[in-house]
Amino acid sequence: MTGDNITTYPVDTVNRVKRLHDRGAYDHATIHALLDAAMLCHVSYVIDGQPYCTPTLYWREGSRLYWHGSSASRMLRNLSGGEPACLTVTQIDSLVLARCGFNHSVDYRSVMAFGQARLVSDQAEKERALVMMVDRLFPERTALLRQSSHQEIKATAVIFMDIERASAKIRTKGIGDNEEDYRLPIYAERIPVNTVLGKPEPCPRLLPAVKRPPTLDGYREGRPLEDSLAEAYRASYPD
Ligand SMILES: Cc1cc2nc3c(=O)[nH]c(=O)nc-3n(C[C@H](O)[C@H](O)[C@H](O)COP(=O)(O)OP(=O)(O)OC[C@H]3O[C@@H](n4cnc5c(N)ncnc54)[C@H](O)[C@@H]3O)c2cc1C
Repeated sequence: MTGDNITTYPVDTVNRVKRLHDRGAYDHATIHALLDAAMLCHVSYVIDGQPYCTPTLYWREGSRLYWHGSSASRMLRNLSGGEPACLTVTQIDSLVLARCGFNHSVDYRSVMAFGQARLVSDQAEKERALVMMVDRLFPERTALLRQSSHQEIKATAVIFMDIERASAKIRTKGIGDNEEDYRLPIYAERIPVNTVLGKPEPCPRLLPAVKRPPTLDGYREGRPLEDSLAEAYRASYPD
């Protein structure tokens, strides 16, 4: 759906944010930016009436999401033929300590994406997707690696899901106490939360001549992980 040059996912009863709807967004720019600044998602699906929610890595190409795993994985075996799935991604931006328990909260950005999960069955497409799984995180890294063996590729399944509907929900308000509570002698604060990279630890078994490639410069000590991920995404999928 396109209007005023803003492309959005269609909205219906499944993905319309009802609770605190002013925090909701459906435009590609907001949703894709959140998806590209993360690598961990939770995939929800139902097998024989039992709900499951599996944490896993994912990556995006346009409106298509990919995730992968062992060919023997129950999740992947059961999500291969168009089963409905919901993939969520969450960033916590701050802890909010208010003047009463009810108003304690967190600032966050999250996405819920809905679609049908399918196996990537074409061999060439599967191999391309597996290259992008690495290169999306670490641009141009596959070219520096030993080639994957036939057995390694066979042992891996790749699932894709075209996003049919999606929503973002974003809380930025920090402390939101009841007006009368600001007069109470109670300490309150907002604690920002960041996932920051630590100092890289080279493998102790590196051969002496092997140095860290400059393509990893985006992953440096003290940098927020989401900045590194977003930058790597842009390098891997330039417009
Ligand atoms: C880190 C974090 C902590 C939270 N803590 C709480 C909590 O303690 N208590 C609480 O009630 N809620 C909390 N929320 C909000 C929670 O995710 C739901 O938005 C809320 O519970 C309303 O759920 P609902 O199904 O009634 O929403 P509805 O508005 O009925 O959901 C309808 C549709 O809106 C969209 N939607 C709803 N929530 C989200 C979301 N978070 N992200 C993207 N799309 C969404 C989906 O498409 C969903 O199908 C938290 C969210 C985050 C990210």
